[in-house]
Amino acid sequence: MAHKALHTDKDLLKKDQKHFLHPTSNPKQQAKSGASIVLRRGQGIYLEDIEGKRYIDGLSSLWNVNVGHGNKELAQTAFEQMETLAYASSFKGYSNPSAINLSEKLAEIAPNGLNSVFFTSGGSESNDTAFKLSRFYWEQVGKPEKKKIIALERSYHGVTIGAQSATHLPAFHAFSGSHMNDVYHAVPHLTDCERGNKDADHYERSIRGVIEREGKETVAAVIIEPIQGAGGIYVPPAGYLEAVRKLCNEYDIHFIADEVICGFGRTGSMFAVEHWDVVPDFMSVAKGITSGYAQLGGVLIHDKIRKVINDFDGVLAHGFTYSGHAMACAVGLKNIEIIERDGLVDRAKEMGEYFGDRLEELVTKHTSVGLTRGMGLLRSIELFKDSKSFERFDPQDNAAEKLYQHCFDRGLLVRTSGGNGINIIPLAPPLIISQPEIDELIERFSAGITAFEAEL
Ligand code: PMP
Repeated sequence: MAHKALHTDKDLLKKDQKHFLHPTSNPKQQAKSGASIVLRRGQGIYLEDIEGKRYIDGLSSLWNVNVGHGNKELAQTAFEQMETLAYASSFKGYSNPSAINLSEKLAEIAPNGLNSVFFTSGGSESNDTAFKLSRFYWEQVGKPEKKKIIALERSYHGVTIGAQSATHLPAFHAFSGSHMNDVYHAVPHLTDCERGNKDADHYERSIRGVIEREGKETVAAVIIEPIQGAGGIYVPPAGYLEAVRKLCNEYDIHFIADEVICGFGRTGSMFAVEHWDVVPDFMSVAKGITSGYAQLGGVLIHDKIRKVINDFDGVLAHGFTYSGHAMACAVGLKNIEIIERDGLVDRAKEMGEYFGDRLEELVTKHTSVGLTRGMGLLRSIELFKDSKSFERFDPQDNAAEKLYQHCFDRGLLVRTSGGNGINIIPLAPPLIISQPEIDELIERFSAGITAFEAEL
């Protein structure tokens, strides 16, 4: 895969600096020195930059390239669909075979009862759609005052104004002072509180506490990532999601599962809620639905909601130009076919266990690695100044950023998470990763950690 640098490399960097404002990046740094990396091709778990340097894609890019890079079947599917019909509207009752077939397939693989889908172009749009459909449902059943959304602290649900208001990572939440009203945050994973233990610490800030404070007649939905992703990979304790499901039933509130990262095999089941046998009312999907080969998201809708929607004799005034995009849906369908045919869900489980064991070794080997968390191929490690006493680094140390750079230098792309002295490195390689490739990833990661520790 090694290719000589293009003679336009310098031009590319200059043009990038001048014309491309990067998302979730430091604009001052970009304006000064341009992109940190320009990627030009990918194959399997590897990416290659314009200078020919190869990297392991330790996060499946943005937790989405589940089947790995360079998949020719997906390219061929996109080509054929584009050649036949790249795009068609799905407004006003228009439809197309790819969108229809994908919606049927999603109903087949989703938990029981989630039999229809509203297509979007990504995760943020899916969550905004879920909020709107939830509120719309409550209006239809004569409870228009049910508007409030409860999300969890540390959550990430996207950046459109609705989704951003539910997101609770400090920088995203604060950005530009753009807020949707009626969004509240609860402390995650307080299973006892959710079960009704009013004496427990933080009861008032638990989901149950927030519902009781705000009044159940004002709350539309609770939104939860089954495993919190961007916040640092937090797996809920046993019984938590089940308790929230029961709580939502008790108070007549919708349960929205945000499976944008977890879906399509990532955690070792097709959808993460399956680990806890929980059936949500809405399930947001995106990312892994096409393995990133096309921009697509959706909200899966439970039959009991669809039934009420079906009684509405007016225009459902919500929809994106690219809802049900023919090419994206064709790619999504083929992608799910590949995940099923190649056994990638079981593989994520099996390789995930091996990956988890190898990460545990790093906890023993490196003094700065305090713990590792996760499920399937969705994992993280957490760094500490002293991992024995779990003493945290000073926020100014920027420990996770430093380790990120050492990994980058060694050809391993990861991600940082946390902030305020909490230093987490999430890892989520493509589901096609093999055992020797995991070993190679761990080798680079461990070398990065050794260099990081030497720098301290
Ligand atoms: N929900 C979750 C759990 C996510 O991780 C993300 C993206 N990282 C989103 C929603 C937003 O998705 P998008 O960036 O496609 O809008």
